[in-house]
Amino acid sequence: MKDQFGRDIHYLRISVTDRCNLRCRYCTPPGGSDRRGVLSLEEIVETAREAAALGFRKIRVTGGEPLTRRDIVPLCRALSAIPGVEELALTTNGVLLPQLAAELKSAGVSRVNISLDTLDPEKYRYITGGGSLEEALAGIRAAWEAGLTPLKLNAVLIGGFNDGEIAALAALSEHAPAEVRFIELMPMTGLFGPEAYLPNRAVLERLPLLEAAGTGGTARQYRLPGAAGTVGLISPLSCSFCGGCNRLRLTADGFLKPCLHWEAEYSIQGLHGEALREKIREAVLQKPARHGALSFQDRSHAGRDMNQIGG
Ligand code: SAM
Repeated sequence: MKDQFGRDIHYLRISVTDRCNLRCRYCTPPGGSDRRGVLSLEEIVETAREAAALGFRKIRVTGGEPLTRRDIVPLCRALSAIPGVEELALTTNGVLLPQLAAELKSAGVSRVNISLDTLDPEKYRYITGGGSLEEALAGIRAAWEAGLTPLKLNAVLIGGFNDGEIAALAALSEHAPAEVRFIELMPMTGLFGPEAYLPNRAVLERLPLLEAAGTGGTARQYRLPGAAGTVGLISPLSCSFCGGCNRLRLTADGFLKPCLHWEAEYSIQGLHGEALREKIREAVLQKPARHGALSFQDRSHAGRDMNQIGG
């Protein structure tokens, strides 16, 4: 459906849990988030069905870590069966994909985005608060084998942490038709200061051979010469993409969020049928033209932690 600025809003991102099996330092605050209730499978599916009736065509399941939800496979099966839903994608850290990739594929998930900020096992352990790079890489292989493609690998670019690995991460796009995406660090947990923020032009400076290859959603795409895949740059701070925003978010505890970096949210708890559809319509019509100032001087106006919203 159209919002009041004429944008076609058809992409619903659903955080299906605020729980995560990792503790990424840019995402989850040191003490963890305050725990809130989580929507049931039925509540999520009903909300998605009403959104599809209003013209939403794409759904992304995210979290927290969506694969920690015990009913993730039946949930994906139900979401992909909703009339009008053309694409069901999922964002994950990949750790549980070796067990779940094939089942997710047969439940109707078409592709996955997997977080991978570094190729160094020690640094991976540090940034994820104890995670294993080996497990994440096994998850990437499992996604590939299950056909959850085209794969997208998400790296949050952090000055002084992984800026020395830009070339190594981008090289993952050389031999496989995957997209390696560098995401500008957003000011969420308070653990990083302005020195950690690197505008995405740092990638272009570091890799002068990158050739422009179009746009895909929020990413500007580039290609290394002769590469099978692409390098994507997602630049929420240096190059806001609010004008082309097509998203509505549903938080794990049942609030519609018209904008990631904006406090306004609309509860769907207890709503059904026409009342639920009306709330979705209201949230879309309240989407701001753009989010509030977003920099390491002006912390995000999200009003929540990233793991509760889903990124
Ligand atoms: N657990 C899953 C994962 O690791 O991908 C899904 C949830 S995570 C919140 C979704 C995406 O948000 C990931 O790609 C992550 O890198 C990104 N993200 C989280 N916090 C961020 C931040 N402060 N700045 C930029 N991206 C962030």
